[in-house]
Amino acid sequence: MKTVNTIYVNGEFVSPHGTEIYELINPSTNQKIGEVTLADVIDTRNAIAAAKAAFRTFSKSTVSERIGYLTKLKTAIEKRKQDFIDAMIEEYGGTHQFVAMSNAHTGAWFDSMIEVLNNFEFERTINAASVRLQPVGVVAIITPWNASNSSVASKVATAIAAGCTVVVKPSEMSALQTNVLMEAFHEAGLPKGVINVVTGLGNVVGTELNENPGIAKISFTGSTAVGKSIAKRAVDTMKRITLELGGKSPNIILDDADLDKAIPMAVYGAYMNSGQACIAPTRLLVPQHKLDRVNALAKATAESMVVGPPQNADTNIGPMVSVKQFDKVQQYIKTGIEGGATLLTGGLGKPEGLEEGNFVKATIFTNVSNAMTIAREEIFGPVLCIIPYQTEAEAIEIANDTPYGLAAYISSADSERAKRVAAEIDAGRICINGFSHDPMVPFGGFKQSGIGREYGVYGLQPYLEIKAVLS
Ligand code: NAD
Repeated sequence: MKTVNTIYVNGEFVSPHGTEIYELINPSTNQKIGEVTLADVIDTRNAIAAAKAAFRTFSKSTVSERIGYLTKLKTAIEKRKQDFIDAMIEEYGGTHQFVAMSNAHTGAWFDSMIEVLNNFEFERTINAASVRLQPVGVVAIITPWNASNSSVASKVATAIAAGCTVVVKPSEMSALQTNVLMEAFHEAGLPKGVINVVTGLGNVVGTELNENPGIAKISFTGSTAVGKSIAKRAVDTMKRITLELGGKSPNIILDDADLDKAIPMAVYGAYMNSGQACIAPTRLLVPQHKLDRVNALAKATAESMVVGPPQNADTNIGPMVSVKQFDKVQQYIKTGIEGGATLLTGGLGKPEGLEEGNFVKATIFTNVSNAMTIAREEIFGPVLCIIPYQTEAEAIEIANDTPYGLAAYISSADSERAKRVAAEIDAGRICINGFSHDPMVPFGGFKQSGIGREYGVYGLQPYLEIKAVLS
C-alpha cells in the first residue's frame, strides 16, 4: 500500500493541513493501491505565499542563471525516468509502450527552453521607447491525469525560463507520479518557493488557484468543460490564461494515400494511450469509393492489437483510468449502435479474461455521419469513427465541422496537395503522413480546444508581461 502524505511548499516536504483522503485504485484490477492526503485551501494559500515571496528575487534572475536551473531540472527529472514509468503504469494503467515513449523525451522540454532563452530578446527598442518583457508573476499550473508528468515538465520549464515562480496542482489521480516529480524538483535545488506542488481536488485547490489574486496566470491542461469554468472565474482578477483542452481530431485520408500504411497508422493513432489522448485522431475521413478497403484494413489492425495488462510489453491498449471513464465509454458505444453507425469490430462489454479491470474492446464504427454524437463528442477511449466523404471539399468541410480544433492529420502521396488541404483546416497542429512531435513547435487549439499556445518561443511569450518605457 502506498501513501502520499506530503506536499512541496517553500522548498520543503510538508504534511498537508488538509485531512481528506483520496483512494488510489489500480485500473487494471480495481484494487486499492494507496492513499493520498489531499491538500486544502490553507495549503494552497501557503504555496501561493511561498511562490509570491520567491518571485521577488527569482523574477530578477539572469538568463544564464535560469539556464542553469533548467539544466538541473532536466538532470533530476531524467534520472527518475523508470520511477515515472512504474507510477504511470500503476496509477492510470498507461501501457508500457506508451509511457516509455512519453518519458523518453521529458528532458527535451528543458532543452527546448534553453534553446529559446539563448535566442530571446527580453529588451527591445521601438522608436524612443525601451520595451521590456518581464515575468508575469506567480503561475498556477493545473494538469490532467493523462499527461501529468509531461504536461507539468513542459509548463514548469516554460515558467522557469520566463522567471516566474509556480504552484503546481496535478490531478489527484496522478499522486504517485507527482511524488516522483516533487522529489526530482527538490533534488534540482532551485531557490526555495520557486516551485511548489499541492495535490488536491479541482474544486478545492483548483478553485483557490483560480480565484486567489496572488496568482497572475493559469496554465491549464484538461477538459473543455473545466477550462471554460476556469476562464470565466479568471476574469474577476484578470488572470492571464493558457488553456489546452479537448479534441475530436480529424484524420483525412486523401484518395491518393497509401492505404496499407495510412490505415494501420490511423488505428494505432486513435488508440494511443488506450484512446485517452487529447490529440488522438478519432475521426477517420475516407473517400467513399475506398470505404470497403479501409474497413478491411482498419478491422484487421484493431483485431491484431492486444488489449491487456499495461505492464506487458506487447500490450497496445490498457484499461480506462477509472470505472467512471469505463462506463462513459460504454455509454458512447451504446449511443453509436443505437444511433445507426455500423459496428465494425469491438463493442460493448469487456474483453474475455479482463473482467476485473476497466478494459474496453478495441472498437471501430464505420458509416458514421459527422452529425452523430460519437463523431461530435470526445469519447476518451479506444473508439474510432470512420466517416466516408465524396470529394476533397466535403472532407475539409467535415473536418472543420466540430467545436474542437486541437489537431488534424492528413495522408496523401502528394505532399503539396496535403499542404493545400492543411491550409483549409482549423486546427492548431496538423501532421502530414504520420505523427510527429517537436518541442520547439507551437501546440494548442483553435475554437473550443483552447486559448494560447505552448512550447518554444510561442509558449514562452504568454508567461511575460510587456512594459514600454518612453523617454
Ligand atoms: P479535467 O478537466 O477533469 O481535470 C484537469 C485538471 O483540472 C485536474 O487537475 C483537476 O483536478 C482540475 N480541476 C477540475 N475541476 C477544477 C476546477 N473547478 N477548477 C480548477 N481546476 C479543476 O481533465 P482530466 O479528466 O484530468 O483529463 C482529460 C481531459 O484533458 C480531456 O478532455 C483531454 O482532451 C484533456 N487534455 C488536453 C490536452 C491538451 O494538450 N490539449 C492534453 C491532455 C489532456
